[in-house]
Amino acid sequence: MKNLLEKLHIDAVNAGACTGAGEWLTDPAGKVLVSYNPATGEPIAEITQATDTLYDQVVERAQKTFETWRTLPAPKRGLLIRDLGNALREVQEPLGELVTLEMGKIRVEGIGEVQEMIDICDFAMGLSRQLYGLTMHSERPAHRMYEQWHPLGVVGVITSFNFPVAVWAWNTAIAVVAGDPVVWKPSSSAPLTAIAVQHVANQVAADYGAAGVFNLVIGSGRTVGERMITDQRIPLVSFTGSVAMGRHVSETIARRLGRSILELGGNNAIIVTENADLDLAVPAILFGAVGTAGQRCTSTRRIIAHRQIVDHLVERLIAAYRQVRIGDPMLPETLMGPLVEESAVEEMLAALDAARTQGGEVVFGGGRLLERGRCFVEPAIVRMPQQTAIVQEETFAPILYVMAYETLDEAIAIHNGVLQGLSSAIFTTNLLEAEQFLSASGSDCGIANVNIGTSGAEIGGAFGGEKETGGGRESGSDAWKAYMRRQTNTLNWSRELPLAQGIKFG
Ligand code: NAD
Repeated sequence: MKNLLEKLHIDAVNAGACTGAGEWLTDPAGKVLVSYNPATGEPIAEITQATDTLYDQVVERAQKTFETWRTLPAPKRGLLIRDLGNALREVQEPLGELVTLEMGKIRVEGIGEVQEMIDICDFAMGLSRQLYGLTMHSERPAHRMYEQWHPLGVVGVITSFNFPVAVWAWNTAIAVVAGDPVVWKPSSSAPLTAIAVQHVANQVAADYGAAGVFNLVIGSGRTVGERMITDQRIPLVSFTGSVAMGRHVSETIARRLGRSILELGGNNAIIVTENADLDLAVPAILFGAVGTAGQRCTSTRRIIAHRQIVDHLVERLIAAYRQVRIGDPMLPETLMGPLVEESAVEEMLAALDAARTQGGEVVFGGGRLLERGRCFVEPAIVRMPQQTAIVQEETFAPILYVMAYETLDEAIAIHNGVLQGLSSAIFTTNLLEAEQFLSASGSDCGIANVNIGTSGAEIGGAFGGEKETGGGRESGSDAWKAYMRRQTNTLNWSRELPLAQGIKFG
């Protein structure tokens, strides 16, 4: 561990705020935050959290940087992000391992998360030459009308524990290319990964004289998070986290007429029809439900299977679940590590109790594995007679509820019958079923897949969901538009002054 921390410049005690290389800031009044390894319960390192004074200092620095950063041509800003991607390539393994150490996802997933960071940097670099606006035909002669996209200002990024570094990259790579400095408030459950990323970003920014573009403030949601969402100096906050917190964030930012991108909880389902290829469906469900110990926003939480095949599917899933090796997430043979903290274990057990009370039968797993550590559980499969209250909730743990259906219309109604709308999938080899699922009256989610599970999105698409998932989109496609301000320009090159709508005035 010591070696790993050294490689990533993590000290025993780390400053909780930073605006660039040599600009790490500590206020002795800052409270100490200890980061623990959820697999062993041992402390990894400490952080002196940012105080109000440091928060202000960081935002002022970012604001000042905006004045120059916005004037640099976007393709030049893209070069910085290209270099960030290359610097991340160099630390991919250790950074991925730190993700594993600090939040417990298995090593390949930790390294895969850093790959997402690299991918979005490549994407943003290309995007830096493609921040296109439209041109329109003016209704007036000798007039030209077009739109341009300008940098917006300082962007606040508040991230969740479960993708502690990728979510920052999805936002930051795009925001920085768009001309916006970023201030990052990471989750208090994964602050060290943020410090490691900041060191990488600092080194790249220094090469461009661009300190103040990547900024970090570590502190609790109640202090730093709250400051950020009420801060008029921050025109856009991208928030990733639970629905409960997202509702508060959304209301607070709306009150000051600021902008938010909300990436909140999901309750993702897969419909498995009688025409499904179960050789595809079973491993996809296994990865979706057990991968990251069920702690992805896109984790598969509900299976809606045709009555003819549901028993057989459950048998196959149980056989697959039996093969899952649970243990030290650093070991290559492990498929499932610990949950992030003990309270998550308690929430899982409470959800299973509620499911039993609501008529469910736990047909596999669901127990604690105390011999492995306080945060280890067995993943659970629960047969439910219907979509009861507990099934409609997102429990951030590896619980898979299985329900049966007769007709595809009924399956889609069950599928859409929850408040969240992030990711969804259908397994079928029947074209008509697939098209119905993707149609306007099919899945109501932001992501809908055919013969692919719910988790593991690519960065090229716009990522996000509907309903209580918050409606935000980030990462690929045209998600960049949220980080810029649109300006419509009309230019008169005639010697007349015709008014729009043919109005004669005076
Ligand atoms: P959380 O809501 O507990 O915390 C998220 C972030 O909000 C943290 O950084 C936290 O410190 C901060 N926060 C807390 N109080 C705040 C306040 N008053 N003001 C501003 N910020 C505040 O979520 P979590 O447990 O870290 O993450 C799990 C949740 O995130 C799940 O619901 C999951 O589905 C969701 N998630 C969604 C996506 C997505 O893209 N849709 C991606 C990852 C995770």
